[in-house]
Amino acid sequence: MIEDKNPQRTSIAQLGEFGLIDHLTKNFEITQASTLKGIGDDAAILDFKDKKVVVSTDLLIEGVHFDLAYVPLKHLGYKAVVVNVSDICAMNAKPTQITVSIAVSNRFPLEALEELYEGIAHAAREYKVDLIGGDTTSSQKGLIISVTVLGEADESEIVYRNGAKSTDLLVVSGDIGAAYMGLQVLEREKQVFQVNPNSQPDLDAYAYLIERQLKPEARTDIRTLLHALEIKPTAMIDISDGLSSEIMHLCKQSGIGCNLYEDKLPLDPQLINVCEEFNIDSTTVAINGGEDYELLFTIPIEDFDKIKGNPNLSIIGHMTQESEGVHLVTRANTKIPLKARGWDAISE
Ligand code: ADP
Ligand code: MG
Repeated sequence: MIEDKNPQRTSIAQLGEFGLIDHLTKNFEITQASTLKGIGDDAAILDFKDKKVVVSTDLLIEGVHFDLAYVPLKHLGYKAVVVNVSDICAMNAKPTQITVSIAVSNRFPLEALEELYEGIAHAAREYKVDLIGGDTTSSQKGLIISVTVLGEADESEIVYRNGAKSTDLLVVSGDIGAAYMGLQVLEREKQVFQVNPNSQPDLDAYAYLIERQLKPEARTDIRTLLHALEIKPTAMIDISDGLSSEIMHLCKQSGIGCNLYEDKLPLDPQLINVCEEFNIDSTTVAINGGEDYELLFTIPIEDFDKIKGNPNLSIIGHMTQESEGVHLVTRANTKIPLKARGWDAISE
């Protein structure tokens, strides 16, 4: 339903590879002082002076990571940048540049790629990252996008996954579970559409959840917030696969355990309503649903007063000795072992 939206279809073969790259990238501007040379030569040139450079890459494959039946290409471009920027946030660094590589089949007209790059441009402006290069090639069938993001940080600012202590508090930004339920809503609408292509879905009651799925944001603001509060997390990770899976990563790499409290999980009211409608347990969604791109981190217990009552941050648990294991403490005060049951692209 998305691909037919734009009636004009210009074949990408008409432009040729260089014409295409030029067409798609000509309106991007360089704004970072560290970018000396962007697109246009055999390689880009960067100068980070005395900063450390943080690098991360993500690969997105049509049919595995996204479904163009309900993901508009503009949103896909935006999200491809956001998920990468989020990884830089999780290191407590500042994102500065991206490269974007695409493989496309001749099924995609120029107009489709224009939409994709509109989303990329929007995210690049929003997060102040320079597009400094990439690669363009053909694929036999689907669309493949790979984004690499670079960021900078002082060495002393960088936060790893392995620094959490057994006495630390566990904190999460924003709310969780909404992106997963947004996907459930979209999957349901896709099925309705397949049965009745003329149906006009009324998605107002799901707007927040759908937005969290289609247009997630990276928490670049948390680095600034924590800096202002004079807090340096001891360990940090972004929530891409699901809270449970990310907690397991922090615990394993830091050699500690954790108690996560069910009644502390930050859930949006819309999530609670829609979970009821779908007859799904909202705690399960909050713990196992992924793609929220919130930040999960640990702080020393002495910093409790600094974040207490902050609307952006929720204390959801505390770390323990490794021998105590990793548990969810339910509202009924029973302890259930947590499993890394987060969404796993490999096993699907
Ligand atoms: P090469 O043949 O040396 O790989 P290309 O012709 O692929 O060079 O790329 C020319 C320039 O355009 C380079 O600066 C490259 O980084 C950039 N580029 C290529 N594809 C893309 C893309 N999809 N998005 C952004 N920049 C791109
Ligand atoms: Mg190339």
